[in-house]
Amino acid sequence: MADPHHGAFRHSIALSVVVPCYNERDGIAELHRRVSAACLAAVGPSYEIVLIIDGATDGTREAILDLARHDSHVVAMDLARNYGHQIALTAGLEFCRGERCLILDADLQDPPELLAAMMAKMDEGFDVVYGQRRKRDGESLFKRSSAALFYRLLRRIVDVEIAADAGDFRLMSRRTLDHLNAMPERYRFVRGMVSWIGLRQVAFPYERHPRFAGTTHYPLKKMLLLAFDAMTSFSIAPLRFASHLGMGFGVLGLCVLGYTIMSWLAGNTLPGWTSLAAIILILGSVQLLVLGIFGEYLGRMYMETKRRPLYIVAEIVCDGTAGAQGSPVHELQERVKGIVGA
Ligand code: UDP
Ligand code: MG
Repeated sequence: MADPHHGAFRHSIALSVVVPCYNERDGIAELHRRVSAACLAAVGPSYEIVLIIDGATDGTREAILDLARHDSHVVAMDLARNYGHQIALTAGLEFCRGERCLILDADLQDPPELLAAMMAKMDEGFDVVYGQRRKRDGESLFKRSSAALFYRLLRRIVDVEIAADAGDFRLMSRRTLDHLNAMPERYRFVRGMVSWIGLRQVAFPYERHPRFAGTTHYPLKKMLLLAFDAMTSFSIAPLRFASHLGMGFGVLGLCVLGYTIMSWLAGNTLPGWTSLAAIILILGSVQLLVLGIFGEYLGRMYMETKRRPLYIVAEIVCDGTAGAQGSPVHELQERVKGIVGA
């Protein structure tokens, strides 16, 4: 994605808070209030709150656009449709202009009041201060145990150190963000990509709260998809697993072949339908499994080779206006209009 910002404009802001918002109508006002207070306390007036509207359908869009028109600290970025959490987050990260950047969820599960302490931690010379959940209030046992299992599994198969029990809630330096924004991939697992960058990263333990309003937008299906993106984009271990599985069953097949030939020599060949059927079933299912894993990677490669933009922006309201003539926002909007044809 081309850089929409230029020179001084970009780095004149000390802090950006980037918040992807799906259907979060009932939480937006409270979010705005608490994040604004936290920013003021941490950096004074030099902050922006980038709210990405990820194809919301419940009035979140209107609420956010309205906020952005009245509070010049708020940037509203309205995406053309629902692209999902990680892409919405990417859109905000690419647009934001701060020297530092905090990623936050709209549901206030991660308290924005920790900002000052995280900033202080970063002052010690860290590039990434990532929140590590000590406790998860109001989340089901299933969600907690599946998350724990996922992170344990991910650590085993992935070459990059990805912290357990850390979400996207983190403070990043501008140089980290620039590296992140330079990564073009389509299947994005942002927290893993940040880990991949390296630099100096430190955990920041905190307690996660229940959602302020609404319900989770991560049902089992989306969680599984995110887990799959994480595994396949950071590791080819599943592909290797496929070939190991193939080899294992190849050896087993050879043994069975030896056994069959011996039985044939001994002259008792007719019984054995059961074992035959079992072998066919096992081999068949293993082949399908292996093909499926190949297919996952192939499909992802296919999607990546299209080189489509990751998202399309329908509208941006920034600095209290919809982008004044000659401002970088205006330029961005012109380009956006070119894409959408609006
Ligand atoms: N979200 C989004 N697009 C989606 C789903 C979720 O932008 O398609 C946002 C949502 O508004 C929230 C964040 O992503 O700010 C995390 O979602 P949620 O709180 O539902 O996930 P959970 O905390 O339950 O894992
Ligand atoms: Mg949440």
